[in-house]
Amino acid sequence: MSARVLSGMRPTGALHLGHYHGALKNWVRLQSQYECFYFVADWHALTTHYESPEVIERNVFDMVIDWIAAGLDPERSTIFVQSRLPEHAELFTLLAMGTPLGWLERVPTYKDQIEKLKDKDLATYGFLGYPLLQAADILIYKAAYVPVGEDQSSHVELTREVARRFNHLYGRSPALEAQTAEAVAKLSKDDARYFEKQRKAFGETGSTEALAKGEGLVRKAASQVSGWTAADSELLLGHLRGSGKTILTEPQALHTEVTKLPGLDGAKMSKSYGNAIAMREDPAVVQDKVRRMPTDPQRVRRTDAGDPERCPVWQFHQVYSDKPTQEWAASGCKSAGIGCLECKQPVIDAILKEQAPWRERAQPYLNNRQRVHEIVQEGTERARVVARETMGDVRAAMGLSY
Ligand code: ATP
Ligand code: MG
Repeated sequence: MSARVLSGMRPTGALHLGHYHGALKNWVRLQSQYECFYFVADWHALTTHYESPEVIERNVFDMVIDWIAAGLDPERSTIFVQSRLPEHAELFTLLAMGTPLGWLERVPTYKDQIEKLKDKDLATYGFLGYPLLQAADILIYKAAYVPVGEDQSSHVELTREVARRFNHLYGRSPALEAQTAEAVAKLSKDDARYFEKQRKAFGETGSTEALAKGEGLVRKAASQVSGWTAADSELLLGHLRGSGKTILTEPQALHTEVTKLPGLDGAKMSKSYGNAIAMREDPAVVQDKVRRMPTDPQRVRRTDAGDPERCPVWQFHQVYSDKPTQEWAASGCKSAGIGCLECKQPVIDAILKEQAPWRERAQPYLNNRQRVHEIVQEGTERARVVARETMGDVRAAMGLSY
């Protein structure tokens, strides 16, 4: 089984071209390399929309249709809804007990978002805690990779710290210590003494040489000691590093080059700025929106020469047009050889062309919404198997399996 990827999106509205270019396109690509888990982050949506839950309710299944429209394959990817898996909340609660408040207050997006979304009261416990809920979302599936934009790297870093702390706190139970002692007892007296010496040296001085010597001894034991198991090696390596048993796995951020798509006004495309084109926007509306886009403000008359650098349409050309079209647009603008409406036409055509297969793939699901519910149901059950298994380990490690 290949490594697992996990990512989610908040169902706060129809997905737009920015979501596609910035995230979804990448999700689709990852399907062929990894075991992908993608979830509808409805609880995360509530952190900013707790006063308007009807928005979320309206968008959960439509967002899944957008995902499938973009090319997610429910056979290959596990698609599910966060709130159907209370295990996420359980892990969040347990992690919350030992997570220092400062770790959350220091997350850069925290103060940023509060500043940006001034019209919403985000001085809530839920909003402060949402990166920890994300940590639970990731850790519960032992995800190896999390595709994120630069702005979310700090959340993956927090997740890693939380996992490390958990393993440190709960990876050493009396049972584990007894098992470790049994593994050490399988070594010869000399080897056991040698191993203990390296472990102490690494613990006290952080000597990488001592660590390497200790690891060397474990490798030797694995090949020479009869009755030695892979679990014995894992136990001794954990003991050597002082990390305890790995109960929660540290994920890695997966940074891929993504386009930050501008909106109709040149600022980042976002539904909250009212500058977005939805993935499944009606073709006539797409045409109308692009035709109304502002252009270089200094190009007032058709005969004025323009500067592409001042024009939001030029940013669209950079995403949607091939080189010859870009050259045609740039030189036509600078020489007043073409008008702005003319310049916009290839962009309109390219967007409509990009959207056509999305509309086609979405249609059967719009006709049969029941099928979307079934897909989510199947994905949720698949995810539940993994989530339950992790929670079994977590409860046992914390001494909660009475
Ligand atoms: P919106 O910003 O439209 O209100 P949202 O806030 O619910 O949507 P985000 O969390 O901003 O959603 O975005 C979800 C994902 O889509 C993130 O990975 C984000 O980087 C990506 N994304 C959103 N807008 C854009 C954009 N204009 N260009 C590139 N990527 C984007
Ligand atoms: Mg946003």
